[in-house]
Amino acid sequence: MISLVADTSVDSPRRAIVIGGSMAGLLAARVLIDHFAEVVLIERDGVSDPLATRPGVPQSQHVHVLLTQGQRLLEQLFPGLAAALTAAGAPTVEWTADWLMLGAGKWLPRCSSDLSGRTCSRTLLEGLIRQRLLASPKLTLLTGCQVEGLLTTKENQRVNGVQLHWRTPDAASVPLLSAALVVDASGRNSALPSWLTQMGYDAPPETMINAFLGYASRWYERPKSLEADWQGITVAALEGVNSRGGVLYPIENDRWIVTLGGVGHDYPPTDETGFLAFARSLRVPILYDLLKEAQPLSPIYSYRRTENRWRHYERLHHMPEGIVALGDAVCAFNPVYGQGMTTAALSAMTLDRCLKQVQTQTRNHFSLRFHKQLARQLKTPWLMATGEDGRWSTTKGAQPGRRERLMQKYFDRVTVLMQDSPALMKTFAEVVHMVKPPTALLAPGIVLQVLASYGKRIPNTN
Ligand SMILES: Cc1cc2nc3c(=O)[nH]c(=O)nc-3n(C[C@H](O)[C@H](O)[C@H](O)COP(=O)(O)OP(=O)(O)OC[C@H]3O[C@@H](n4cnc5c(N)ncnc54)[C@H](O)[C@@H]3O)c2cc1C
Repeated sequence: MISLVADTSVDSPRRAIVIGGSMAGLLAARVLIDHFAEVVLIERDGVSDPLATRPGVPQSQHVHVLLTQGQRLLEQLFPGLAAALTAAGAPTVEWTADWLMLGAGKWLPRCSSDLSGRTCSRTLLEGLIRQRLLASPKLTLLTGCQVEGLLTTKENQRVNGVQLHWRTPDAASVPLLSAALVVDASGRNSALPSWLTQMGYDAPPETMINAFLGYASRWYERPKSLEADWQGITVAALEGVNSRGGVLYPIENDRWIVTLGGVGHDYPPTDETGFLAFARSLRVPILYDLLKEAQPLSPIYSYRRTENRWRHYERLHHMPEGIVALGDAVCAFNPVYGQGMTTAALSAMTLDRCLKQVQTQTRNHFSLRFHKQLARQLKTPWLMATGEDGRWSTTKGAQPGRRERLMQKYFDRVTVLMQDSPALMKTFAEVVHMVKPPTALLAPGIVLQVLASYGKRIPNTN
């Protein structure tokens, strides 16, 4: 347990502070432990019940897919996590074999691959990670505690701590905490841009691309009598055909989370009749057929803040030292592509790499250098998410040029060709799971298949 000192007259070279104890904050704290003597993770919510949903993470009521790349990175950071998830009842899923997936046309072929993972509720995953982190004597978690501002040196050249506001009446009333590095992982509503302007710096420019996707989700008991050769189902929305999609996602304790989504303001309703009618109106009514017989375990939850938003800290010319941001505070994605947690893990790895470089190189401009490296890593998931969202005429902020439209046409061919090619489908799945870069789909063999298909008519829709 650290002693909370209010003395900010000097930096605390041994301490790092993380603002926000959700996925990006937890993973940042994990890597900071390897570089600092003390890491203080500050979370606004109380987290007394590790498996309860909390106001700061409303998304935990919805499907939360951990992509294979994310699963691998989390296992690297927390060895034994996958086994702990299994012990807690999370199903093991081989994504290309156990999932029914209606993509661009037909149901995709199912085949074996090494793309596997555990499917579970977001609260279980976060709870197990927090538990493992708390086992480190270097970590202190302050809950019910909000960061209200940054502390800086006289000329605002360096951030050297945070100002706290305790939300629980019985908490220690230490209002200031010093640190050598502050990491902002406070999510989409991050106050860092306005803190920077108050300090005399520019706020980062923002790019926003909004497909106006809305979610509605409900938890169900998996019917005991159900015999199925699949574990989960995705019916994708398809531009020009149907703006509605849905996912049935198995989680611990024989439950399903079913999330329905509609693009372009076609938001799913949250009343029972409307929810089922929406499920019935997907390209195929498979989810409706299952849900009408299944026992609901929850109300229907709604979520609509799904825009892609990138705060470009990497474009700033000046930034104070001692502060960086990551996770949704920097780049939040349309959640339908399931990239947020995996990108948070990749960002934590980038922070780790940059801190290792600091040991051998100059500390000057660490904040800007980190953000430049982070931006390189964010580019691919950003292009994948916004490229897909840009297909919809209702999407705001997307301006696909000639090159983007050519790529879309190319990938359209790939998604149709893979309906009859398990090998191509596997490569596509590896890209979606962020195990391979999208350029894997530009391998010569695949380009030849696509070129050969140009003379043929390809049925694309249903
Ligand atoms: C509906 C929905 C579905 C999603 N589905 C998926 C999915 O399938 N797969 C996937 O990988 N990702 C998904 N995501 C994205 C994923 O949830 C996030 O990318 C991931 O949680 C990382 O977010 P974060 O930690 O940066 O921010 P958040 O999860 O937003 O957490 C921010 C944290 O900071 C705390 N906080 C905020 N301000 C302060 C402050 N001033 N002081 C102290 N604490 C503060 C909040 O209480 C909160 O705990 C989904 C997101 C949404 C909205």
